[in-house]
Amino acid sequence: MVRAAIGAATAAGARDVPVGAVVFDSTGKELARAANAREALGDPTAHAEILALRRAAAVHGDGWRLEGATLAVTLEPCTMCAGALVLARVGRLVFGAWEPKTGAVGSLWDVVRDRRLNHRPQVRGGVLADECAALLDEFFRTQR
Ligand SMILES: [Zn+2]
Repeated sequence: MVRAAIGAATAAGARDVPVGAVVFDSTGKELARAANAREALGDPTAHAEILALRRAAAVHGDGWRLEGATLAVTLEPCTMCAGALVLARVGRLVFGAWEPKTGAVGSLWDVVRDRRLNHRPQVRGGVLADECAALLDEFFRTQR
């Protein structure tokens, strides 16, 4: 699933940080994918996870709910995306590289496992972390 997210990340525009996200239903079928498009859309909320969750909800057929779904993303989600995936009732989150500067799934905060929330997805981080981090390293190297 993280491999699919890496594929999604490669679709990011030239100016956008290559982060990719894919949502799968409970049977493992892909519902939607997206790349970070903050620069391309001029939208501060156009992170890969948000775009993928919106598209997945549109095709899933249970309104805004994505219960039983898995969100795979190449980078540890930020507070906005962690909040969004909890609100979407995503059942499972799998991500690649850790993000020590903004990560909200264990690095700086742990939004998705906050016991005060009534929905907490299962989490697995660090999957294919080196490959996911390499995408980012390459992007930032060419930006300088
Ligand atoms: Zn985010």
